[in-house]
Amino acid sequence: MFNNFSPNMLKTYQFCPKKFYYKYIEGINIPQSTLPFEKGKKIHALANYFLQGINISRIETALSDSEKEIWQELLNNEYFKKDTLKSEYQISCKVSDFWIGGRLDAVVHDYENYYILDYKTGSIPKNPQYDYQTMVYLLSLDRVLKSYGTLSFVYIDLKHGKNCVIGFNDKLKTDYENQIEQICHEINTDTLYKKNCTNCERCEFNGYCR
Ligand code: SF4
Repeated sequence: MFNNFSPNMLKTYQFCPKKFYYKYIEGINIPQSTLPFEKGKKIHALANYFLQGINISRIETALSDSEKEIWQELLNNEYFKKDTLKSEYQISCKVSDFWIGGRLDAVVHDYENYYILDYKTGSIPKNPQYDYQTMVYLLSLDRVLKSYGTLSFVYIDLKHGKNCVIGFNDKLKTDYENQIEQICHEINTDTLYKKNCTNCERCEFNGYCR
């Protein structure tokens, strides 16, 4: 029985219940190449220091040319230039009997309008409005802020230099709460953890599972 769910847990179960079983019940981790993640990690760390007002000039000089380009893209982004409320913000809220939460890259605002920022050096989700990360973060910040003008989630696509902005409203709030309650309940009552063989080609457990 799980009481706390991260977006990754929900996404993994959606991807394949068997993969969820391997990762979160048996605790198996298949080593993956960390190279694609390294660039993203550096940019996230740099952005966090920058938003906290820490002098990053020496760190900037250690970036590779391609990292410098991405960093400049983020610095020029219209949302990244807004006022910072929080950076690397751990947040959670309760939906029905389940706690959900995660760490937001940043929350920025202009007056009463708030934006959750998510920096992407890879690709953004295929269905961003109903991605579990979007749902969990928007629901959590909505609870924390209580009163605001508008609330949005912004995927900053650093690879293609564009933003994907998802607004939040009462209808989405109800949809999100229902979907999250449903999948958390499904995870906690599942006894079979069936394989979803349509995703095997993109799964690190491919060799292990068969
Ligand atoms: S290899 Fe396929 S069936 Fe096995 S865990 Fe991955 S997605 Fe699921």
